[in-house]
Amino acid sequence: MRALTDPEIRASFVNCSKGEARRLNLPRGLAELPWEDLDFLGWRDQGAPDRAYLVAEHRDGLVGVTLRVPSFRRSLTKTNVCSLCVTAHAGSGVALLTARRAGAAGREGNTVGTYICADLACSLYLRGRKKSAAVTRPNESLPLEEQIARTVANLDAFLAQVRTDTLAA
Ligand SMILES: [Zn+2]
Repeated sequence: MRALTDPEIRASFVNCSKGEARRLNLPRGLAELPWEDLDFLGWRDQGAPDRAYLVAEHRDGLVGVTLRVPSFRRSLTKTNVCSLCVTAHAGSGVALLTARRAGAAGREGNTVGTYICADLACSLYLRGRKKSAAVTRPNESLPLEEQIARTVANLDAFLAQVRTDTLAA
């Protein structure tokens, strides 16, 4: 994706207040991120362990989503698969992240959740730029471009769910 600026990122959020978007902690070293290897920008809040964020190009423009991270830890013997990039993680490497829906539905407490790499580094796992003993990529013959396309399609579907309210209007 193209490199994003601080104001662009803050202006992209669809499911939180403007004040919240102004105050949230952006990733450190924004300018130095490996943008060319990112399909979306995702990060955990350095100051709030229960918060994560995701920003991506979606349909008509940039869409940012605030996510809640569950506080409980999963069993370390269990392996879970990210619903975006299909990377398998042992233990707590995959988390059920939930987003408040945009608009009126969100104000009524409506949320949508999905299992995602808890560090939101799907793009780097796909490209083999981030590795760990607890992480397994599926042994598949699909070319990288198609794995990326699948991840982006999965993310698009999730963002569309978050924005249901906007689309129905
Ligand atoms: Zn992932």
